Amino acid sequence: MIKDFARKRSINVCIVNTGGCNGCDIEVVSALAPRYDIEQYGIYVHNNPREADVLVVTGPVVLPWKKRLKEIFDKTPEPKVVVAVGACALSCGIFKEGHVYGPVDKIIPVNAKLPGCPPRPSEIIEAVVSIAPEALAMKEKMLKEMESKNKDK
Ligand code: SF4
Repeated sequence: MIKDFARKRSINVCIVNTGGCNGCDIEVVSALAPRYDIEQYGIYVHNNPREADVLVVTGPVVLPWKKRLKEIFDKTPEPKVVVAVGACALSCGIFKEGHVYGPVDKIIPVNAKLPGCPPRPSEIIEAVVSIAPEALAMKEKMLKEMESKNKDK
């Protein structure tokens, strides 16, 4: 109950690396450090897609990740948004000629695309914050619908 209340006003982000070099992930982690302090915007990062509102995907989708990424997307509860971070997530970048299946939007729908190799932490925060109002509005609408359904019972 307390968890549901708190989650109404926060954005939970799950980071998924589908085969990148870790460069983008290091920048995402930097965004969590005190210098950028992403939590001041009510954004919390963890690794559980079942708790997430936003999936931040880094890296090209390598062959073993094709099925797994779709599974993670399906596990993430509605409403959800996807942010593809970095050149590899957008177009496979330097891995284009390797054993990759394709960019993220070939597997799952992407709501925001952030280019760069890697993008800066400030740009990553900006991308998530820009998508956050949409995610919050969708979440609030869905929670209100659930509450009114429960009242009718
Ligand atoms: S975009 Fe650059 S830093 Fe990010 S995964 Fe690709 S090669 Fe690495």
